[in-house]
Amino acid sequence: ASATAAELISTAEQYSAHNYHPLPVVVSSAEGAWMTDVAGRRYLDMLAGYSALNFGHGNPRLLHAARAQLDRLTLTSRAFHHDRFAPFCSELAALCGMEMVLPMNTGAEAVETAVKTARKWGYRVKGVGEGRAKIVAASGNFHGRTTTVISFSTDEEARADYGPYTPGFEIVPYGDVDALEAAVDDDTVAVLLEPIQGEAGVLVPPPGYLAAVRRITRERGALFIADEIQSGLGRTGRTFACEHEDVVPDMYVLGKALGGGVVPVSAVVSSREVLGVFRPGEHGSTFGGNPLACAVGLEVIAMLRTGEYQRRAAELGEHLHRELRALVGAEVVTEVRGRGLWAGVDIAPEHGTAREVSQALMDQGVLVKDTHGQTIRIAPPLVISREDLDWALDRLRGVLGG
Ligand code: PLP
Repeated sequence: ASATAAELISTAEQYSAHNYHPLPVVVSSAEGAWMTDVAGRRYLDMLAGYSALNFGHGNPRLLHAARAQLDRLTLTSRAFHHDRFAPFCSELAALCGMEMVLPMNTGAEAVETAVKTARKWGYRVKGVGEGRAKIVAASGNFHGRTTTVISFSTDEEARADYGPYTPGFEIVPYGDVDALEAAVDDDTVAVLLEPIQGEAGVLVPPPGYLAAVRRITRERGALFIADEIQSGLGRTGRTFACEHEDVVPDMYVLGKALGGGVVPVSAVVSSREVLGVFRPGEHGSTFGGNPLACAVGLEVIAMLRTGEYQRRAAELGEHLHRELRALVGAEVVTEVRGRGLWAGVDIAPEHGTAREVSQALMDQGVLVKDTHGQTIRIAPPLVISREDLDWALDRLRGVLGG
């Protein structure tokens, strides 16, 4: 007989590092917004792989693109050209309204690439003195797990014991225009922000903030880097969360949904002035821009070009937020934030932790995940049906009162 969930969890505990604390469900298959565990029980996926599964599990278009590419060519390395690379880069640039693309694999790698790009641009183009480049980031940020990226995290859990830290970063409170104005100086090469902070609990900045970031960076000749790894590619009801404030940054950092939940695909997308700073040998990745990644990414771009997923996220998101807002103040829920099919729901501490709430929802067949103690994060695949969303909302009301 095949292993039970309890056996698999216990073996994972024994043989894998404990750097995660998953809910006690062992998934073995999935389709659309639904996942099935090893015992055959079905769950509605209301997390979507932290937005990597915007187009749902086993999306037929993405699987078809992947399978067709698997049979032709999966890897050349960048030592040679391959025929999926040019279309992927040109079409991603077009989707973003930008000029050049630098593909990587994971989100953290793309953020590292953005940091390196901004510094190089600062020295070569802006004329910052050697070794002086500064990047301004926000408190509560989450940009990944590498040593440089956690060097400018303000989350002790993410940072502790990993020093010495990479210098060259200054932290300002997220959403505070005056603090940003004071921090951006002549040595500042970039301001790096999530337009909505995901891991922090789906924090939407005050209206006008992103526009102010755009103004300040433009005035001081610094790059505005938008980390849209979690917020981008349809999640908020627009292709990019920056669009809600009619803001166009100098650089998008993309990941997660760019690989459709099939393969890791990330990218930095920017202007020729900025990404043009690289010469051969100055940066790279064996798998970055590989044929399989480009084939899946191309299909993701084609799907986003239809506008269908953004529309769904906007319409269903409005419904989701209307229903969630109705829970605020009743009993358990103290605050709801977010945009589109993306919500952070704060749980009153006297009603338990967000982990306990997530577990109670799991028992009801709804999978969400806690973040930072008292917040549950809701981010279903954008292909979720209205009926399934209402089914989940019924269960949310059951657990959260209302
Ligand atoms: N940036 C943001 C905004 C994220 O939400 C994440 C992941 O949650 C990352 C970067 C890191 O991406 P990855 O886990 O693929 O390295």
